[in-house]
Amino acid sequence: MAKRSMNIKNLSERYGLSAKEVIAELEAQGFPGMKPQSMIPDASLDLLLAHFDGLRKKKESAENAGKGPPVPSRGTEVHIKSPIIVKNLAEVLGKKPNEIITNLMMMNVLASINQMIEPAVAVELAARMNVNLVVDKREKEEHAPKAEAKKEPVPEEKGYDDKPGDLVPRIPIVTFMGHVDHGKTSLQDTIRKTHVAAGEAGGITQSIGASVAYSGKKAITFVDTPGHEAFTAMRARGANVTDIVVLVVAADDGFMPQTVEALNHARAAGVPIIVAINKIDLPNANPDKVLLNMQQNELTSEEWGGTCGVVRVSAKTGQGIDALLERILLEAEMLELRANPKRPASAYVLESQLEQGLGPTANIIVKNGTLHLGDPIICGEYYGKVKGLIDYKGQRVKSAGSSMPVKIVGLSGVPDAGAKLAVCTSEKEAKEIAESRGVNKRVETLTGKSGGMSLDDLFSQMETGKKNTLRIVLKADVCGSMEAIVESLKKILSDKISIEVLHAGIGAITENDVLLASSTGALVVGFHVRVNPGVNELAKKENVEIRLYSIIYELLEDIKDAMAGRLEPDKREKELGTAHILKIFLLSKGPKICGCMVDKGIVKVGSKSRVFRKGELIFNGEVRSLRRFQDDVKEVRQGMECGIRLDNFLDFVEGDVIQFYEIELKKATL
Ligand code: GDP
Repeated sequence: MAKRSMNIKNLSERYGLSAKEVIAELEAQGFPGMKPQSMIPDASLDLLLAHFDGLRKKKESAENAGKGPPVPSRGTEVHIKSPIIVKNLAEVLGKKPNEIITNLMMMNVLASINQMIEPAVAVELAARMNVNLVVDKREKEEHAPKAEAKKEPVPEEKGYDDKPGDLVPRIPIVTFMGHVDHGKTSLQDTIRKTHVAAGEAGGITQSIGASVAYSGKKAITFVDTPGHEAFTAMRARGANVTDIVVLVVAADDGFMPQTVEALNHARAAGVPIIVAINKIDLPNANPDKVLLNMQQNELTSEEWGGTCGVVRVSAKTGQGIDALLERILLEAEMLELRANPKRPASAYVLESQLEQGLGPTANIIVKNGTLHLGDPIICGEYYGKVKGLIDYKGQRVKSAGSSMPVKIVGLSGVPDAGAKLAVCTSEKEAKEIAESRGVNKRVETLTGKSGGMSLDDLFSQMETGKKNTLRIVLKADVCGSMEAIVESLKKILSDKISIEVLHAGIGAITENDVLLASSTGALVVGFHVRVNPGVNELAKKENVEIRLYSIIYELLEDIKDAMAGRLEPDKREKELGTAHILKIFLLSKGPKICGCMVDKGIVKVGSKSRVFRKGELIFNGEVRSLRRFQDDVKEVRQGMECGIRLDNFLDFVEGDVIQFYEIELKKATL
């Protein structure tokens, strides 16, 4: 074809495309920055015309044949349902998964073929390919509502308009926490025995994860002392059951490592804390030491001018128990806990099990509303109808109101502790939700998505302005370095982000640390400590990042880097080599091949290339194939001759210089 000058407009008329489409296509072919009035470089005109001809043919044949998954033509709209897995995205875009993964890398998103990516990322990637990707569009709906309304809210998320008169005070739900052997269980047992409701006879016959005690006529629900690991594991799943934490500290022992840990877990939950100084019957009881320990942990007692209530008790003699219950009720009053008994129940699972004769049962605590026999329910990924309700006294009841612990019978499976329970409009609806959750859970397992946070996540959140706190769970080998690190961390100032040390402790990194991090979106930092067996696995599951250091300076530098937002994966161009074209071979079949001499470095199949003519860049694309004599080879080194074919570029002339390079994506090192 005789060469003549053409501009974008000419091309768009010739191929029936908009100028925008032509420009996008040219950009994809390595001609960036074109404007509607730009001229097409003469040297590349033939090649580009051939390319556009090819595109037109492809489009026509796809339209005519209508077979196979067509490659979406540019500017078209394609639909996909969430969750978006890389493999599925490749399918709908008509691309190879590798291509999608590479493009994602160019967007600094590292994902494998089976991984889920954010809808916004998929939409942007598709847009780069000039495809309008629509996520979760409703079928058969002409007047589809906006994207936000795409999913029916699940029952527990549905807003419920409480009429002012319907809200009544709710019984407080209390959890005891503290160091092992400081008397949590004994205190709870004593309260159970001494503060049963008037007229109630006998002991407790059923353990259903919680019990109700009375101070006068006022009730308090006590969740069985779960240990803070279980407490935080539940919170990690979004179950904020507890209204008030009672931190139990033995008067003869004072604060111990688990006391501090429990305190930090309670603080992370943002609930009021009451300190119960237990075992004051012992001769060596030293309550003042506990007050001092509180002060040292920034928890000042009321007696010392702070806000934290302190009650001296003895589980053994019963001394101070009444005062403790009164203090709990006072704290509850200030919280103004309210619930509406008329609304459908929402509840959390405390424990669950498979019981002979009953099937799956769950010990739940109703947080709001009233649960009735016969209610259709959804609980985690299971559903059912409430067939039986058993209260903490072991009696069958017809309903359970707010803050009431109760065992339910009738679920289709055994839900996780911390799972939410909600009432649906029908069992059919419950079943449908359960089924879709089952699918999502499998996807989550596949992609490892969970509640924790890595520093990279944090960085991307910072970019979108969502998060401005870097939460840290710190473990160190000795108290001195722990304090030094905490102090130094406090001194790092940044206007983008602040640091919050949720917990600092001595010793190895444990499951507890990971659970706390998972429930709060924190990072676990270890200094001169090991990670306990199995903890790395849990961290992976919970998506929590653990970073280990042995030099304080390095630790601080890394945290500073994280705060300064320097975590973006480095995208570096690595030059591989150069070659120049000696001769062009025209083959009878197939495309032109250029005979080259590799002047420097190495050429690899798949590497990126730039073609320069008289010092001017004329093409940017990939090396499609390499030949040495009659053989296809993967790479050719300096000083050797070879035949090179580039992807979508045929317009070589002798003397052109080709530069080869790779894009290295280096994960930001912290
Ligand atoms: P938990 O691990 O925190 O649940 O502690 P336990 O309730 O199991 O109590 C640990 C030990 O401390 C048991 O031997 C109890 O009998 C004892 N204990 C608990 N409370 C008191 C108390 O008020 N006074 C005395 N003298 N001993 C107590």
